[in-house]
Amino acid sequence: MTKHHRQSMRAWIADREAEGDLVRVGESVDPVHEIAAYLIEQDGGSPLLFEAVARHEEPVTGNHLTTRARAAAALGVSVDDLQGKLIDAVRYPLAPFRVEQAPCQEVVIENPDLKLLPIPTFFEHETGPYISAGAIVARDTATGRGNLSIARLKPLGGNRAFIGIAPNHHLAVLARAAKERGERLEIAVTLGNHPAVMLAACFYLGLGDDEMEVAGALLGEPLETVRCHGVDLAVPAHCEIVLEGVLDPDETVEEGPVSEFHGMYERYGAGYVVTFSSMTRRSDAIFQCVLPGYGAEHILLGAEAIAAGLARSLRGPVSSLREVAVTAGGAGRLHAVVSLDQPRPGAARKAIFAIWGAVNLIKQVTVVDGDVDPWDPVAVEHAVANRMDPARDLIVVPGVQADRAEPMEKDGVISKLGIDATIHHGDRADWTKASPPQNVLDRVRQRLS
Ligand code: MN
Repeated sequence: MTKHHRQSMRAWIADREAEGDLVRVGESVDPVHEIAAYLIEQDGGSPLLFEAVARHEEPVTGNHLTTRARAAAALGVSVDDLQGKLIDAVRYPLAPFRVEQAPCQEVVIENPDLKLLPIPTFFEHETGPYISAGAIVARDTATGRGNLSIARLKPLGGNRAFIGIAPNHHLAVLARAAKERGERLEIAVTLGNHPAVMLAACFYLGLGDDEMEVAGALLGEPLETVRCHGVDLAVPAHCEIVLEGVLDPDETVEEGPVSEFHGMYERYGAGYVVTFSSMTRRSDAIFQCVLPGYGAEHILLGAEAIAAGLARSLRGPVSSLREVAVTAGGAGRLHAVVSLDQPRPGAARKAIFAIWGAVNLIKQVTVVDGDVDPWDPVAVEHAVANRMDPARDLIVVPGVQADRAEPMEKDGVISKLGIDATIHHGDRADWTKASPPQNVLDRVRQRLS
């Protein structure tokens, strides 16, 4: 077996296989709905590699980061250290290292027809197939600073695609700024990336902070990049496929119903069009997808990035902060849990308002003490059951401006819920946990191990 470069998706897949954590699907699968059905049936389980995709030569892979344990494994840390690793990567980014030759440029195709790629059609009422794992490189030509982000792309025939970006998405901001200067924004959609690149692309950083440098910090070494074939950008050298083109904010097209993280369809209306001038790829490229909608990987990618970003922004104002979780039940976007170490009176409420102020999508915030794992839904509910008095500890704020993806948004607003499940001074006289004596527990534990 050939040794894969450690910054490649192939190295990650080989690691998973060595751990017995990869499922190869050998039977022929149709990219229309069938790949999505496999990904849904196996969601939360091992990554999948579809070796025989109908009408295409390329294998397809998906369901990579469906658990926190896999995300931690991808970054070489324990689950307990995952949030710290993500925060440190944002704090201490590493500039990329330019290489002259790259596997992602073995083959060059001009004016590529997107039909050539095994792009899955995921859901029944979406209007076509979607590229869902594209980590998109762009650069602000005024400042020279790069940007890396994930957005969905729907082929429109030939070398054109619809791109799904919200108006405040950095890519949309850069496209409008380029237009004001009389330019068109060049982009490079990279497919088949190492999980570190995927996680880095999900961070909400400041405009001008390059997520590619965060990817390097997550890898523990500068990300190797190569100059694109036809556009003035550099892309991860060890990815599988690169689509080079321009994003034109003058041209818009209506999208139709599209799945969202909460699991239902949204109708966002019109969006921008991308035209691809070339495609470069490995000769034996593997096509990567992320199951969209309420899929575990889609949920986790958002949750980890949002949680780490929140933990970073709360550290100053809330000195007792221990960790922030963004829950799977809350679709990785809507519910946060904050753990505080021995919070002072009112610190829980302050944390709730700080979270709402930092990320508008978060609707419900639960605050627990430092002895409760915020990522464990049973432990959090147990804290709510034991330490929360509804009349005293619930905060409801009506009429707050809503994100467009909020499932219960009405007339542009939503209400917010804060739950303080921390122990308050004077709550109970006795918090002693019922248990056999510690020395007996220790003796039995020793005997069992
Ligand atoms: Mn950005």
